[in-house]
Amino acid sequence: MRFLGSSQVFSGKEFLAPHTILVLDNANKLIDIVSSNEIDELKVEKHEGIITPGFINAHCHLELSHLKDKIKKHTGIVDFGLGVMQQRHTFSEELQIRAMAEADKEMVKQGIVAVGDISNTNLSISTKQASKIYYHTFVELIALNPEKATTVFDNGKQLLLEFNSSSLHGSLAPHAPYSASKELIQLISHYCFQNNSPTSIHNQESNAENNFFQFKIGDYLRLYEQIKLPIDYFTKTQKSSLLSVIDAFHSSINTLLVHNTFCSNEDMKVSQQLHHQLFWCLCPKANLYIENALPDITELIKQNCNLVIGTDSLASNSGLSIIDEINTICKNFPEIPLDILLQAATFNGAYFLGITNQFGELNPNTNCGINLIEGKKSEFTVKKLA
Ligand SMILES: [Zn+2]
Repeated sequence: MRFLGSSQVFSGKEFLAPHTILVLDNANKLIDIVSSNEIDELKVEKHEGIITPGFINAHCHLELSHLKDKIKKHTGIVDFGLGVMQQRHTFSEELQIRAMAEADKEMVKQGIVAVGDISNTNLSISTKQASKIYYHTFVELIALNPEKATTVFDNGKQLLLEFNSSSLHGSLAPHAPYSASKELIQLISHYCFQNNSPTSIHNQESNAENNFFQFKIGDYLRLYEQIKLPIDYFTKTQKSSLLSVIDAFHSSINTLLVHNTFCSNEDMKVSQQLHHQLFWCLCPKANLYIENALPDITELIKQNCNLVIGTDSLASNSGLSIIDEINTICKNFPEIPLDILLQAATFNGAYFLGITNQFGELNPNTNCGINLIEGKKSEFTVKKLA
């Protein structure tokens, strides 16, 4: 048995009383939480820092791991997207799989125990099967043309079946408002409702996305021109992208909005009123990489939005580390209390993925993972204790 103690212990939802000791069995399963006066002091592994449950990375694209340092920074989302499209398939499958395995190992080292991972192909299956991490794969579907919704949806279900028959968890997710019709979103969301599984969508990562919906102008017209995809059928909605699609989602399904960099206060308010199972994913390092901008995290907190944290992919990030994302938020929003960010990185992510029986909280009889956060606020590092 192991007895772990530290100056601070965070449960996943709150800081526990001083002198809390975690009791682990030899397989690193948490079996009890006690007070230090119940334990022989000499047996306790004492640490300096914050003990937390293992981190949940709510948004990643393992498939893009081989694109690290390949796409230019600060180009804006359209040129970033074009860069990914041009480069992602120019590498051998062997190299792509090796990059995924390395990224997976990096996440384990960074104290990440569960990942919500976007996939467009079956290439990540072997890495996920061999991993210590719990993966929930979001099979991502793309089709702005409503006429293509049914075909794309059927193909997505086939790909999801490949993950499921490899004993991997997953569901379906539309890519983004500008790349998924409301018809496609409705099919996906209804399917997730029937299977009681979460879904996800990239949201307002750029202001170009809102311009496209409100006025049918801006950079997305260039994108569709460049990839030679006519979009005559698309008509402006005179609303932001989020408010144009939010009612296509089933309001009782856990729904992840990823990025939210250009989400207005009004958009947050109206969406929260229309949909009670929204989760707002912060990927600050990717936002700085692509658009050099950050979402209004203070306002999201003020409006009681459920926050989770994601790394996005190595195509738009220097690493896959939740603690680095927390550091970036602390540097840019020093007023945000740390417990809000720690809960976003642990309990909230597990709640979104529907895995709180295993992860996200220091619950006896779980292998939730135990991390130690060391160092000063905004320069934290993480060590995996169990
Ligand atoms: Zn993403």
